[in-house]
Amino acid sequence: MSRSGLGRRLAALGLWAPAMLLAPVVVVSQDRLVGLESELLYTASCGFVPLLVLGVVTSVVVPLASVRLVSVVLSGLATLTLLSQVAQSPTRTRSPAAGPNLVLITLDTFRADHLARLGGAAPTPNLDKLCADGALFTQALSPFPLTAPAHATLLTGTVRHSLRANGGHLSEPTVVPALAEAGYRTGAFVSAPVLDRYTGLHRGFLHYDDRFGTRARFEWLLGPGPVSPRAGDETVSRALEWLREESDPAFLWIHLYDPHSPYLPPRGWLPDKAARDAAKEADRQSRRDLDKRSFTHTLEAGFVASQKLMYRAEITWTDHLVGVITAALPPETVLVVVGDHGESLDEHQYAFNHGRNLFDPSLHVPLILRWPGKVAAGIEERRLVGLTTVAPTLRLAAGLEPEGETLLDRLDPAAPTSQIEAFTPGMEAHRAASGGEAGPVAALRGEGFKLVVERDGESWYDLVVDPGEMLPQPVPSAQQHLVAPLRARVDEPLPKTAPERLLSLGYVE
Ligand SMILES: [Zn+2]
Repeated sequence: MSRSGLGRRLAALGLWAPAMLLAPVVVVSQDRLVGLESELLYTASCGFVPLLVLGVVTSVVVPLASVRLVSVVLSGLATLTLLSQVAQSPTRTRSPAAGPNLVLITLDTFRADHLARLGGAAPTPNLDKLCADGALFTQALSPFPLTAPAHATLLTGTVRHSLRANGGHLSEPTVVPALAEAGYRTGAFVSAPVLDRYTGLHRGFLHYDDRFGTRARFEWLLGPGPVSPRAGDETVSRALEWLREESDPAFLWIHLYDPHSPYLPPRGWLPDKAARDAAKEADRQSRRDLDKRSFTHTLEAGFVASQKLMYRAEITWTDHLVGVITAALPPETVLVVVGDHGESLDEHQYAFNHGRNLFDPSLHVPLILRWPGKVAAGIEERRLVGLTTVAPTLRLAAGLEPEGETLLDRLDPAAPTSQIEAFTPGMEAHRAASGGEAGPVAALRGEGFKLVVERDGESWYDLVVDPGEMLPQPVPSAQQHLVAPLRARVDEPLPKTAPERLLSLGYVE
């Protein structure tokens, strides 16, 4: 190589110096960059190091002017990213809250009957311990067998909100801004893009951790297609790190997505290698052979067995994560653990999914409240309860007016009987558009019965004699008055169309 050639290469390399100097800062501050509002700047931060390495190597090999230009652009983007982060750092203007930490753990796709305390086959010692320390609501039902709408109800305290399908947007206020106003440091750590900030659920959170790093960012850029969810241990680790940053009272929401399909728990939590191999093969087969939009084929028995086995492994893994969280919390913390919806494993010819029907396997979820000094240990409340109670309970624990029925109200023996509404609006919207068969669109669950409204009729289930919901009956004449109000709810405005990448996750069918 001539002296002038070497000089040109060294000069080209020198142009990368600003970017190289900024690289450690970008990497170290990556955790804080997830809070950026700008997708461009966040994407730039994720692609910064790979682009830097590529650029430096290219500069040495091919010292072209265009490559040198990239170095300048990259340095500029890094500077902009960091400046934006500084400019957008949220700050609290209120003095710290006087109350205890409030923690909400949402367990995605977790069936209530898989709690060992309620007869589940897989061990769930940490959740059982929480039940022993607080109150277990054995008949908690989700209003939506879909992640985003169910979480919208959890955080707003109502089923009458605008986030009616995954991919939609919430217009109504959640409980979170009020908690922030009351002086709580508010942080959310979600594990799947279905709960990203475009849902509107992020409002009021000082920190909303919904971006999962470089790999997920490239998937996001390359869409449409599923963006990998985040493993629960990483979500928990980041959440607890945030909690430890300051000692001020915090409202912390942690969303754990692990029980959602595909059921592939970490290696150490698998039953054995044969089961893992069988499950992986079954997963490949299902994606290759099955119609994802129906999932109603008659499934091979081995496939069903292996998937149930793997689902139980995910349950135990998730229970372990709950144990990691609870071990890190101060003892006076008010803690709510709740499922967003269940999962149909093989009931009613609907396997390893949720959202299409309104049978109890998709709606019945765990709900546990631990409130030291307020809720006696070991309570088991067996009457129906809806997820609308969670937000008012959080408000009450924060010292605010609850603005709705709380879980403490449900523990009162004199509390009136609950009736729970449940909906599949997103499913119906799609079916109407595609001309598919009519399915259930709304249900009313009362003590001992369920009324299901379809597009063209109604069904009644007497759950006392038919707890498996296998024998649909005509609506009894004495209960006919329940039909019209429920059907009127179906005619409410349909949700927005979901983005293509969420459709590909199998969320909106
Ligand atoms: Zn979910």
